[in-house]
Amino acid sequence: MNNAVIVLNAGSSSLKFSIYQVDAEELSLVARGQVEGLGTSPRFKAKDRSGTTLADADVTGTSPPQRFGHQEAFAHLVTWTRDQYKGTMTPAAVGHRVAHGGLDFIEPTIIDGAVVERLEKLIALVPLHQPHNLAAVKAVTCLRADLPQVACFDTAFHRGRAQVTERFGLPDDMFQRGLRRWGFHGLSYASIVDELKRTAPGLAMARLIVAHLGSGASMCAIRGGRSVDTTMSFSALDGLPMGTRCGSLDAGVVLFLLQLGRTREEIETLLYKKSGLLGISGVSNDVRALLASRDPLAAAAIDFFVYRAKREIASLTAALGGLDALIFTAGVGENSAVIRSRICKDLAWLGIVLDPAANERGHGCISHAGQTPSVWVVPSDEERVIACGTVSALRAAGKLPGCAEAATGASGA
Ligand code: ADP
Repeated sequence: MNNAVIVLNAGSSSLKFSIYQVDAEELSLVARGQVEGLGTSPRFKAKDRSGTTLADADVTGTSPPQRFGHQEAFAHLVTWTRDQYKGTMTPAAVGHRVAHGGLDFIEPTIIDGAVVERLEKLIALVPLHQPHNLAAVKAVTCLRADLPQVACFDTAFHRGRAQVTERFGLPDDMFQRGLRRWGFHGLSYASIVDELKRTAPGLAMARLIVAHLGSGASMCAIRGGRSVDTTMSFSALDGLPMGTRCGSLDAGVVLFLLQLGRTREEIETLLYKKSGLLGISGVSNDVRALLASRDPLAAAAIDFFVYRAKREIASLTAALGGLDALIFTAGVGENSAVIRSRICKDLAWLGIVLDPAANERGHGCISHAGQTPSVWVVPSDEERVIACGTVSALRAAGKLPGCAEAATGASGA
């Protein structure tokens, strides 16, 4: 019988998962997938590590779809794992992506009732992410209270930055109460640093900008493997424009919308769900659809995204005092040669020049050999960081005997 760590990344309408087999020496990915359409039309999808589809099915079953939530999704996953692996794989632990760890939670943390209570206090800071992360924790507790659970935090990688990078220009008591530039996507940044430590150790300690460009997007300046500054701040709205989120916005705009009589809920929906690429274009939040569209507003949305990305690269270079490498990751960063090329096009003054053929291939180094700063495409693997963090935390507490010591990244290094 093999032990498995299940990694969960819970959103409002989906439960993404990865299953890792835990051997004495290493963690190996067995399957990944998601239950999407929670509360509407739930569908279970799973692929093996080579990308072959293992499952793609409607899972409404006998219960009404609106009652199919995180708990039902986790129950389905456990049953599927048992059936798929014919009882050869037994869940030994669950690792969770948790958006916010606040000031206290930096290391991967074994979850108990007191931890959940403290994490619930942070819901107000990330209302669209933290409640769903914690709903998945409660779903597991309800169904399998015997399974140890560990939380790994997106804010953790950014803790320990110089205070000057964490402040807003607000009174100090507000800073002390948590109105600070926390930063997110930390598990992705930790996974890039881990990968570089394995494949290009010299670069891992150098001055890096990692551009995490997905449907959520941010950039992080990294030196010595640690976050120096980042574009997302108090909430997951700040910095780059995203698929449906606005990016940096003058706070005066929110005051003006309030003055116009917009409610808090309307403003939240506008800023999180109807802005960014979708808001500007009116066409789509998907970069592929915008690049294919002839609508001038689709072009305007891409122009804005590219322009803001360039500005942030220059700004983060200043924060680092120079740049050794620019690294693209996440859905857009890993897959769109056009966007990478457009972002880098006017950055030659910084020494950033792409090798067009390497950029088209889109793997590893995509600048000319020997050039500094070098430019790279490195896939992020947040789930592995969570799996490693989960095993590390449980082994340290003697709760997962016989399992591998984890890699470094999940500690938020
Ligand atoms: P998240 O994990 O934040 O949901 P991803 O990192 O998976 O997002 O990125 C999803 C986005 O990546 C899609 O919305 C799409 O815009 C973009 N994307 C995926 N593949 C491509 C591609 N080949 N070209 C351009 N954009 C792509």
